[in-house]
Amino acid sequence: MWLGYWFIAIFAFCASNFSQAQTSWPETNTSATTTLIRGGWIFDSLRDERRRNSGILLQGDQIVAVDTAQDTVTINSKLIQLTDDQTILSGFIDLHAHYSLDFFYEGRVDEAYYNSLVYLANGVTSTWSAGEMNPQRIIDQRNKIQDGEAIGPRLLSSGPYFGGFRCEYDVKVAEDDCVAWPNDITDDEIRQEVDYWTNTGIRSIKIKQSTPHETKIIIDQAKKHGLTTTGHLANYLVEYDVSTLDAITMGMDRIEHQLLLALSPQEADPNELAEIIQLMIDKQVYYDPNLQMYGSVNLRQKHIHDMIWTDEAKYFTPYAKGLLEARGSPPPESDWAEYRQRVIELLELYKAGGANLIVTGTDEPVYTTLLAGFAYHRELFALVDAGLPNAVVLKAGTINGAKALGIDNLVGTIKPGKLADIIVVNGNPLKDITAARDIAHVIANGIIHNPNNLLQSVENRIGPKNKDDHEFWMLEIPPLRRENTSSR
Ligand SMILES: [Zn+2]
Repeated sequence: MWLGYWFIAIFAFCASNFSQAQTSWPETNTSATTTLIRGGWIFDSLRDERRRNSGILLQGDQIVAVDTAQDTVTINSKLIQLTDDQTILSGFIDLHAHYSLDFFYEGRVDEAYYNSLVYLANGVTSTWSAGEMNPQRIIDQRNKIQDGEAIGPRLLSSGPYFGGFRCEYDVKVAEDDCVAWPNDITDDEIRQEVDYWTNTGIRSIKIKQSTPHETKIIIDQAKKHGLTTTGHLANYLVEYDVSTLDAITMGMDRIEHQLLLALSPQEADPNELAEIIQLMIDKQVYYDPNLQMYGSVNLRQKHIHDMIWTDEAKYFTPYAKGLLEARGSPPPESDWAEYRQRVIELLELYKAGGANLIVTGTDEPVYTTLLAGFAYHRELFALVDAGLPNAVVLKAGTINGAKALGIDNLVGTIKPGKLADIIVVNGNPLKDITAARDIAHVIANGIIHNPNNLLQSVENRIGPKNKDDHEFWMLEIPPLRRENTSSR
């Protein structure tokens, strides 16, 4: 329960006197609203424990003081008084966000407006979308949020997939062609693609279904622009187009989903895994296990109340909900044997000293009446259920993600000088990870949101409204080669 925040005027302080009195704080816009968060506990993403919060002071979009003894607020200030059972965390970061939905089983499309609100309501204040079907939609929403014209998390974009997966699931084996990533794509075309998307302001590149030769060119060209890369490497069903070891040697910065191709512990080669993990630690390569996606329907059945704790279907339009329900549950993404192998890979990385390399990503392409924003908490739960300590999981969701994306100078910890991406949850997520989903306040870029209001505004909104409203929701795959590239 939260006590709310009040506009409190104390004394005759004017804003300028107030800022002069605090000369040790970083320069900020003195006309910006200040907010004091008092009470409760802080988990600051660098520690394995909570400490009492005496006061966090925000000004505009910045954190200006932590552990401050200040207990008064001025005429332009807000006070957020926490109860003793509340915990303050740095906003969560999703390293494998998908804003995509598939209502017709004909391919996913990205919807960034309402999904952004759902993410934010779940305490996720930054996302990197790991391969976009409609990159321009993500870019447009990213810019609107940046400019204060829309509400949402910090959208760090990826552009489209780099590789044959640009054609979604149409490409099954290496021989299949994709108009958006032709089999005879030239080295120059690959470099031009990296350059083009770099200029749109993407943060990192997602490689999926590219050959070793193509992968090397993508990684090298990305590095020229200071961009990182990650990859889904088990791409053409049983054909390994780029092995994890090769990708890391080429300079890939993060690995998604899995380290070995093995589909069960019986098939796995422990020596190969040990070699990969050692190389990841040597080169500080991040790992995004996406356990909730692998566990999918099996894990949801096993932990029904911890995985599904609210009605997510109500955020879809009645028509869209009808489409999804008529289709029924999709098959599990993997069986228990494969899930166990993915858990082994994660735990081996952790035991070898790779706790700082684990990041949190949902990878929830929506085929059901479940949503990516809520999936973030399914992932936190799955990571704890797999055997990671809660503190390790909370750091994976905050500081590790920030470092992996190269934004740890801005977000990821609660520290003066960083951006005010802060959430307040009811309870202690170090004891019970599901407390992380019981969110009282979300502050993103200094703006305070009520998660319940955010969610209410999404009810009955996601998806087509009726049979005449399909166009926005149909996948379009633009060819790589065409005269006018500006309309990509
Ligand atoms: Zn994905």
